Parts: sequence; structure tokens; C-alpha cells
Amino acid sequence: MSAHPIYDIDKPEVALGPSLENLKSAFLRTPAPTAAQRIERLQRLHQALVTYQDRLIKAVDRDFNGRSRAETLMIELLPIFEGIHYNKKHLRKWMKTSSRKTPLMLFGAKTEVRYQPLGVVGIVVPWNFPIFLGLSPLAGALAAGNLAMIKTSEFAPETGALIKQMIEEFFTSDEIIVVNGGVEVATEFTQLPFDHIVFTGSTQVGSIVMQAAAKNLTPVTLELGGKSPAIIHDDFPIEEAAKRIAFGKGLNAGQVCVSPDYILVPRHKIDQFSDAFSAAIAKHYPTMRDNNDYTSIITERQRDRLLDNIEDAKQKGADVVVINPANEDFAGTRKLPMHVVKNVTSDMRVLKEEIFGPILPLVPYDTLDDAIEYVQNHDRPLALYYFDWDKRRVDKVVQNTHSGGVCINEVMTHTMVDDMPFGGVGPSGMGHYHGKEGFLNFSKAKSIVVKGRFDASQYIAAPWGNKMFNFFINFQLKRLKKF
Ligand code: NAD
Repeated sequence: MSAHPIYDIDKPEVALGPSLENLKSAFLRTPAPTAAQRIERLQRLHQALVTYQDRLIKAVDRDFNGRSRAETLMIELLPIFEGIHYNKKHLRKWMKTSSRKTPLMLFGAKTEVRYQPLGVVGIVVPWNFPIFLGLSPLAGALAAGNLAMIKTSEFAPETGALIKQMIEEFFTSDEIIVVNGGVEVATEFTQLPFDHIVFTGSTQVGSIVMQAAAKNLTPVTLELGGKSPAIIHDDFPIEEAAKRIAFGKGLNAGQVCVSPDYILVPRHKIDQFSDAFSAAIAKHYPTMRDNNDYTSIITERQRDRLLDNIEDAKQKGADVVVINPANEDFAGTRKLPMHVVKNVTSDMRVLKEEIFGPILPLVPYDTLDDAIEYVQNHDRPLALYYFDWDKRRVDKVVQNTHSGGVCINEVMTHTMVDDMPFGGVGPSGMGHYHGKEGFLNFSKAKSIVVKGRFDASQYIAAPWGNKMFNFFINFQLKRLKKF
């Protein structure tokens, strides 16, 4: 029997290999969609979202057993609409052939780069933003002229089933195919010879996906997770930092890839930060249990994992503050109040594993150099947040740390800027989507040399050592040996 009532997670609803072959043949029939054709597909995606908006919000709510409507609107739907508009506005410019400088050796020829669609892009989606993380890469892939196959997350089955229905209503199976299913389906999916795979999910599974893709030499964009730190400088008002961090950390109850994972706080301000953060969370969510603004944890298993990590920290000597403003009992719900963890040590799971939930460890530091060193001694994170008004110190932090993106005096909002690439570095991912970089990611930059009627190479051709050849080589060497 199926593990949940929406679909059988162990079997794809369509045969995966033949579905991809079908899309590949469809692509070969129109390998160079015009800007107008791409925009028409984006328009259909837009129309699909307009039509399904309310149903999608309800589906995500059911999957989470309580997902804030405001959050689904603000963090899933608005950014996809923005992305569609952004791609529509810019794709004609991005598609333009770019003429390049021709070297002397090719005198008389023209050189140019054309951006060609790759073919069929496979998109693998996690559960935390099951609409945005499927349809945002899709918009980028369509803008670059590709077709796509999407594998939704088995932990957001209502949303996955609805996205499938929506796509089937607005697109043909010669354009986009949506597949629902669990790990077995995902494994088979990522072994298919796509022209590109965009995988969003954990670092551990990202590595498996990259290995599977390597067998077909399929290029991958990996949008992974990790521990994104925030550093607060001693000169920055600690209450202000706490408020700004609380806004971001509360979203989706911390189940966001770029959620601040831990905070580097000046040692003497740990309690001050903890109090201010608790007050800010209590202000946003005066109650939590039946408050629709505060999102639940996606599954029992995830909730248990988070509770185990809190227990692990306590057993190793941490001081855990539970932010439960109305003193509610959460038994029988999948809600988990926010926890601040003080007195942390490096052997605690909250400092070793990505948190991905409403837990916030505070790591004390003494000097800014110590804080930078701490970040650099750990895996390169997806995001880094730094709170400071001093521009020189800001530059120092930006230049001396590595992360996918940075926000200064702010958290998470860099993900919402379509005009900038989004992606990780090292264990937090590779490749980008959003922005022109996203278009390039989903295109092949093809180099083309166009020779005219005049053929300069004949003047220097073998037998080598002829006068023209000697003149050309000597002239070039003399010029190029200068630096
Ligand atoms: P996950 O890695 O468990 O699953 C993601 C997807 O991979 C799902 O569709 C799943 O079915 C599939 N999958 C699972 N096992 C697979 C396998 N062996 N082979 C191929 N595919 C497989 O991640 P999750 O729990 O759904 O999401 C949470 C993680 O995603 C966190 O680490 C988070 O930081 C990360 N994330 C990253 C971003 C980003 O943009 N960088 C965004 C959201 C979430």
C-alpha cells in the first residue's frame, strides 16, 4: 500500500525513461525557440499560477499541517511571479548574439557567441518551498528555451499532486512533465541522461545526485544547504540585530536553506541578544499553537530530529531557552516553539549539523578576527550575514569569508533579488539560477568563427618558413612577449 494517500511514492506515475525521450524528441523538433515562443511559455506558467494560487496555498498548508498563508504568498508565490516578469523582460537581450574580438591569426573572420538552449532540464524539488523551488528553476529553464521534467518532494505530496495537475492543464507532455514520488523515483530520475539537472536539497543527497549525473556527464546545478552564520559586531545595537534576525528566523519556522543557522555574538552580549531575540519572536508570534502565522514542522520525523538535537545539546551542558510566549502545550501538534541555545560546545549536534528549524545556537566570540576564523574553519555556507555600520569592517568580512551570498545588516533577502545570481559554494552548492547568470546556466555559450571570402591563412600556410609566415610569427611574438 502507498505510504500516503495522494500517490504511490515508490512508483512514478509515468515511465521516466520514455517520458524524457519524448521531451528530447520534442526539443529536437524545435531546438531554437524564439523569444516570442519562450515568452508565451512563461505567460502560460504565469496564468497557471494565477489560476491555481489559492489551491496551491491550501495544498502547502495541508502538507505542513499549518503553513502560514502570508509566508506562502510572500516567499513562494511573489518571488515566482517576480522571476517570470524578470525573465520576460530580459530574455530578448540575453539571447542576442554577442560579437567578440577576433585575433590577428583569424584576420578577416568574424567571431561570435550564441546562447543555445541545452535541451531538457531535470528539476528535483525539496519540501520546504515546494512551489517556489520547482517553478523558479522552471521559469529560468524556459526563458533559456529548454523543456523540463520536475520531480516534486514526497514530503509535500498535496502540493506535488496539484503542481502536476496544474502543469498538465497548461502545458503539453511535449513541454513539461511533472513526476511525483519518493527516493526510489528520485534515484531513477537523477540517473536519466538529462541535458542539465537542477537539484535543490541536502548536501548529502546532492553528492549522490552529482555522482549519478556524472555517469551521463550531465552538468548539475546543486542548490544545497549548510550552516549559514550571522556575525554581530560589538558596535552594532544588539536589540536591532536581534529584531532583524528574528524576522528571518521565524519564517517557515526556520525551515529555510538560508535561515540564520547560528549567531556569532560578542561574548559579553549573549544574554542581551537572547533576551532581545526572545522579545522579538514573542512580538511576532504572541501565541504559536493555534496561530496560523507560525508554521509547523513538515513531518513528525523532522520534529523528532529537532527535539533530539535540543536534547543532545542539553545533555552536553547547553542552556536552552524556550520561547513560548503564551506558555502553550504543543502536544498533538507539529508545531515547535523557537529555542535559543546558549553555552554551546563544538561537539553538540546543533553546531555540527544544519539546523533547519526553530533552534538558534549562540556562539560567543572575542574579536572580529576570531569570528572570521570560525566561519572560515567550517564548511563554506550558503549565506553569511554581518551586522555592522562600519564600511571598512564590512569589506573586511566580505573579502575574508566565503559563502554563496551575503546580506549586511539583514538576513535572507538576497534570495529575493532576481537581478543577482543565487547559489552556494563548495558544500553549499554549485552553479546559479536567477539573473543573467541563471540564463547562462541553462544555455550553452557556443563559440562561432565565421570566415568570409577572404582567406588569410592561405598567405601563411605550409610549406612553413615562407616570407609571410616568418613576418607574421615574428610580429606576433614580438608583440606578445611584452607584458
Ligand atoms: P533532500 O535532499 O532529502 O531531498 C530533496 C529531493 O531529493 C527530494 O525530491 C527527494 O525525493 C530527492 N532525493 C532523496 N534522496 C535521493 C537520492 N538518493 N537520489 C536522488 N534524489 C533523492 O532534502 P529535503 O529534506 O527535501 O530539503 C532540505 C534540504 O534542502 C536542506 O539541507 C536545505 O538547506 C536544502 N535546501 C536548499 C535550498 C537552496 O536553494 N540552496 C533551498 C531549499 C532547501
